[in-house]
Amino acid sequence: MTRAATPLTLSLVIALVVMACATMQPKTSDLVGRAVQAQGGAEALGSIKTLSEKATVRQWEPEQSMVAGGDMRIANDATVETVTDLATRATRSDWVRNFPAPASRTFTFTEIITAEAGYVAGIDTTSRNKQSRDANPPAHTMSGLRLAASQRETLRSSPLLLLEMQRNPERVSSAGSIAVGGTSYPSVYYQAGSQPLIVMFDPATGLPARIRTLDYDNIWGDVTYDLVLADWQTVSGARIAMSRKYELNGRVVMETKVTERTVNVPIAADRLTIPDAFRTGAPGPATRNVPYQWVIRRQFIGFYLDSDQPSYDTKASPGLRLQELAPGVQHVVGGSHNSLIVEMKDFLVVFDAPVSDWQSNWTLSAARAKYLKKPVKYLILTHHHMDHAGGLRAYAAEGATIVTGKGTAEHFRRVLAAPYTRDPELPATDLRRRPIVEVADKYVLNDGQRQVQAFVIDNPHADGMLIGYVSDVRVGFVTDLWSPGAAPLPDKLNPGLAALVAGVKKAGISPEKFAGGHGGVGDYAPLAALEGK
Ligand SMILES: [Zn+2]
Repeated sequence: MTRAATPLTLSLVIALVVMACATMQPKTSDLVGRAVQAQGGAEALGSIKTLSEKATVRQWEPEQSMVAGGDMRIANDATVETVTDLATRATRSDWVRNFPAPASRTFTFTEIITAEAGYVAGIDTTSRNKQSRDANPPAHTMSGLRLAASQRETLRSSPLLLLEMQRNPERVSSAGSIAVGGTSYPSVYYQAGSQPLIVMFDPATGLPARIRTLDYDNIWGDVTYDLVLADWQTVSGARIAMSRKYELNGRVVMETKVTERTVNVPIAADRLTIPDAFRTGAPGPATRNVPYQWVIRRQFIGFYLDSDQPSYDTKASPGLRLQELAPGVQHVVGGSHNSLIVEMKDFLVVFDAPVSDWQSNWTLSAARAKYLKKPVKYLILTHHHMDHAGGLRAYAAEGATIVTGKGTAEHFRRVLAAPYTRDPELPATDLRRRPIVEVADKYVLNDGQRQVQAFVIDNPHADGMLIGYVSDVRVGFVTDLWSPGAAPLPDKLNPGLAALVAGVKKAGISPEKFAGGHGGVGDYAPLAALEGK
C-alpha cells in the first residue's frame, strides 16, 4: 500500500508545483503589454512611420581565429546609414565596411530589403557571384537565403516589434522563464516568418532585453543567437534602444551603436526601390533550412557568396563535381571550397570538410559511387576554420577518424560533443567517442600500395595547419595559403606562399602539383621558383 501511494503522492506534488509555476508566470499578453507601455505606449510607437539611423558597427568571427578555440578576430569596423519605412518594412542601408584581414579592404555598398526581394548595389564581398561580376556597375539580387536572414534581423531589431506582437496575440505564446547570466527573464515566443523569436523581458523594467533565436552553426551545432538591447532613449515619445549587441552562445559577435536617430523624416520612394532589372525574377525569402549563421557571419568577414546553394554559385556553376587529378585522386570542385579524395587499397581518405554537412553528404555519396562503397576511414582537416571544417560531423557519423593538426584536438573534441539537433542534413547521434588523431609533426597512412601524408607547417593563417601529400602521384593539398589557379602567381612570395614553400622543404617532399581547398590545381615548380625573388 505505501509503495502504491508514493507515485501518486509524487504526481500530486508535481501537479501542485506546475500549477504554482503557471500562476507565478505572468500572462503573455501582460508581458507584451507592459513592454509596449515601457517603450512609450502603443500610440507613441504607432505614430512612428519612418526611422533614420546612423550607426557604427563592429563584428567579430569566432571560427576564423589563429588558434582553434582561441580569441576571436575582429572581422570588420563599419559605419551604416539606414532608413526604414515601417509600414512596408522596406529598408535601405548604406554601408562602409572596413576589413583588416586577410588583406585590408573596404567595401562601400547599399542594401535594399523589401518584403518581396533584396538587392545589393556595389561590391560587398570578395566572393562575388556571377551576376555581381557581370553587372556594370556591380550589383546583384539577394538570394532567398540572404533575404530571409536579412528580414529576420530587420524584424528582430525593429522598435515596433512589441507593438506588432500586441496586435497579433495569436502568434504569441509563453516561453516560460529563461536564465541568462544569473537573471531570470520571463519570455514569450513570437511566431513570425519561418522561425520563432524568443522575446525575453527585463524583469525590472518590462522592456524587451534579449531577443533570441535558436540557430544552427556548422561548428558548434545548436547555438543561441541573442540580440541584446540597451541604452534606451526617448525619440518622439517612444523609447528605442541605442545599443544593439548580438551574442552567439554568450559571446558578443556584433555591436551596433546608434549615433543619430530621427523619426518620421519622409523617405523618397526611389531610395527604397529595387531597380526593375534586379527585381524581376528575384527570389522571395527562403522559408526552410536557412543556414542563418553561415549567411550572416560570412558577411561579417566579407567572403559571403550570395547564392541559394551555400556551396556554389547557382548562377555560374552546375554544382559540385569530381575532377580526377591522378589515378584514385579526386578533387571535389565546382563550389567555393574543395576537398580531396584519395583512394587506398581498402578505404578512402578525404582532406577537408568544407561549408556544411550538405557538402559532406554530396562528397560522401560521390565517393561511394566512384569507389564501390569503400568507406571513408580518415578525414584530414587542414585547419579549424568554419568554412573548411564545418562539414566534419557527416564524416564522424560515418565512422571516420578525424585527423587534425597540433594543438587542435581538444577543440574538435568539444565540437564533436556539442549537440546538433538543428542540423538539417544529419540526424543527431552521439559523436563524443569518435577517434581524433592530433598530428604533432607528421602523419603517415601507408597500406603497402599508397602512402598519404600530412605535415604540420608553420604559417600565418592558423596554428596547427596541415598540408597533404600523395607521394606516388606527387600531388599535394593546400588550403588558404595558396589557391592554385584562382589568381596568377605574384612576382614575389607573400607570407602564405612563403610558408607553403618552407613547409614543403621541411617535409622533404617533392610535389609536382598542388590541389587547393580553394581554386583548382597548380604546378608547384613555378611557385618554388619564386623563392629568393
Ligand atoms: Zn582558413
